[in-house]
Amino acid sequence: MNEFDFIRRLSDQTSSRKHSARVLAGIGDDAAVLGGLADRNTVITTDLLVEGIDFYRDATPPRLLGHKALAISLSDIAAMGARPLWSLLTIGLPADIWATNFKEEFYEGYFVLADKYGVTLVGGDLSEVKGEIVIDSIVMGEVAAGSATWRSSASPGDQIFVTGTLGGAAAGLKLIEMGARLGPDGLSSLPAPSKRGAGTEPGAVATGSLAETQTSELKAIEALLHRQLQPQPRVGWGLVLSQERLATAMIDISDGLSSDLAHLCEASNAGALIQSALIPIDHDVITMCGRRALDPLMLALNGGEDFELLFTVHPDNVGRLPKRVDGVELSHIGEVTCEPFAVRIAEKDRVWDLQPQGFSHFKE
Ligand code: ADP
Ligand code: MG
Repeated sequence: MNEFDFIRRLSDQTSSRKHSARVLAGIGDDAAVLGGLADRNTVITTDLLVEGIDFYRDATPPRLLGHKALAISLSDIAAMGARPLWSLLTIGLPADIWATNFKEEFYEGYFVLADKYGVTLVGGDLSEVKGEIVIDSIVMGEVAAGSATWRSSASPGDQIFVTGTLGGAAAGLKLIEMGARLGPDGLSSLPAPSKRGAGTEPGAVATGSLAETQTSELKAIEALLHRQLQPQPRVGWGLVLSQERLATAMIDISDGLSSDLAHLCEASNAGALIQSALIPIDHDVITMCGRRALDPLMLALNGGEDFELLFTVHPDNVGRLPKRVDGVELSHIGEVTCEPFAVRIAEKDRVWDLQPQGFSHFKE
């Protein structure tokens, strides 16, 4: 199949879907033409995924890579409180990968998630590359004029919340680095044997018979690989928070809570005090870490790619927050303070500076 056959097929797959919100020209012309509305602001984001840096080819089933490429951009749109509508997806593939089923499976995963949120593929580009796979995902969405949620508008006294749980994606990455793999029917390879006893935290080891423990450990490993490879963007939460004008500021957790909270505080010229005991650590992380001498709190604070939403709420509005949206709960983790850039964490009766230790490219 050549480039043009493939684009034609993508165009057919797109036009057979129902949700073409105001697409006046989609795939097939020189550029997409989208109908705008006077009372909405357009929100647009792009994300680059590079093999070997952002994902490992041998550890990422193509279907999940297609999902993730879209999911991470949907998460940025969610963090602005916007509704995602349109997507552009550009892929650079080596010739040997082009010749396999990679592209079919990749777009299969992509379209399942696009359909879930009514997002229409309106264009993209395609190129052969000589080295690593490269993917660029652009998503455009809309928000009622003037109601996008910035990073920069948190005020001292606002309460800090986070959706879902943290640390799972980073634990999944650790498991991949230890050799764990997901196949089409679940786990296809286990991580290298755990070092039982070596630095293991007492109490974190699951009790019960060996058989039960093994099953629960396998389930935890599989769930954590999914957290890393198939992140779920919190689009529903983002919409509720902006439509109800509940969030004063918001960011998605892509680099890690410690880094993304620092970004929000820096943009808002404020500080934060969070409570270590209130951090919603993914319970599968606790199961996995207990057996592998890793610290669950450190993964939850510094691990990236959970794609949960971190946001602040004026104290008067805390009572109006829904308990859950799309089955995803909320945790109240702390408060915005007035000392600029001072991000702190309280653990029992001690208070520490929380250093931003999440992911960053070109680290020195
Ligand atoms: P040009 O060479 O002028 O950039 P292309 O042949 O690359 O034109 O693109 C023609 C049309 O096909 C455009 O509408 C473009 O958005 C679409 N297209 C190309 N590649 C992809 C892709 N990977 N996914 C979706 N649409 C694509
Ligand atoms: Mg082109």
